[in-house]
Amino acid sequence: MKQFRNNVIRAGLEALYVTRAHYLLRPIFAGVGGIFMLHHVRPSRDAGFQPNHHLEITPEFLHATLTHLRACGIDIISMEEMHRRLVERDFGRRFACFTFDDGYRDNRDFALPVMREFDAPFTVYVASDFAQGTGRLWWVALQKVIARADSIEVDIGGTAVRLDASTDEARQSAFDRLHDWMRTLPEQAIRDLMTALCLRYGVDENAIAGELCMSWDELRLFADDPLVTIGAHTISHCNLARQVEDAALDELATSRARIEAELQRPVTHFAYPYGDRMAAGPREFALARAAGFKTAVTTRPGMIFPGCADHLTALPRVSLNGNYQDQRILPVLTSGAATAMWNGFRRIDAA
Ligand SMILES: [Zn+2]
Repeated sequence: MKQFRNNVIRAGLEALYVTRAHYLLRPIFAGVGGIFMLHHVRPSRDAGFQPNHHLEITPEFLHATLTHLRACGIDIISMEEMHRRLVERDFGRRFACFTFDDGYRDNRDFALPVMREFDAPFTVYVASDFAQGTGRLWWVALQKVIARADSIEVDIGGTAVRLDASTDEARQSAFDRLHDWMRTLPEQAIRDLMTALCLRYGVDENAIAGELCMSWDELRLFADDPLVTIGAHTISHCNLARQVEDAALDELATSRARIEAELQRPVTHFAYPYGDRMAAGPREFALARAAGFKTAVTTRPGMIFPGCADHLTALPRVSLNGNYQDQRILPVLTSGAATAMWNGFRRIDAA
């Protein structure tokens, strides 16, 4: 099903490219700029089972994206500068921001050298527990569990279910089924289930954050680079919309305070974990404002329009998705036609 959806989206992007419809749509949907959303940047691997592949692009694709933006004369600016341009209504030049979620070490090792080549600023949103080495990246733990087993036994809604994991294809559908179901569970239930699965299948869940994410020491050096802005991404990488209000505000405010204390610099930009409608709505947008953030980004697809100045804690982004790393789609993404298509041709979606 996911593969089918991927193919439909790819076909849509290619249709826009081939028909050049994005040039016609551009004056209406391009907006004044866009915020790109990335996670991992690292060389491609040829393992057959990579269920989180949409979360990673290669350094080469990042390079191609920056080359394209420069060729279009689009300014690459920090979130701070984007905030200024929105507030002061300085829309003389189109802009792009680059944002990376979760604080992965490959952002330093593979993205930073490319960003330096283009003198391009970028923001990395850190979940403070990940930097502490105690956070739980359950979607990675789930991938590791399924990679180690021939079949997975789970209790789904009171029924013991056995999922085949003997081929890459079976592993992918087992992952999709468990991942989509787990996203609907309360935070503690996800945690308990993953702990049980990791124990049963011999995965060291506690090592994952340290393996993948930069520690405070690493972040201190990384944050010294003038191109780098560090933003917050909650303490525990929880779904804020599922927390009671006090807990949600604490995730916002305490993650900010912890990062500021560790890195000795102000933290004024935020990204909502998961970031879709299930994870960030009007209450979270207000809480991010109350916690003192100047901007907060969602994972809702869209370009930046002047009207976004009234919704600075509900900003949409354009995903650089690992499943569509084709240079031909870059003009489509920067035209805004692709995100407009996903949004049913509404410009701003902040409700
Ligand atoms: Zn995240």
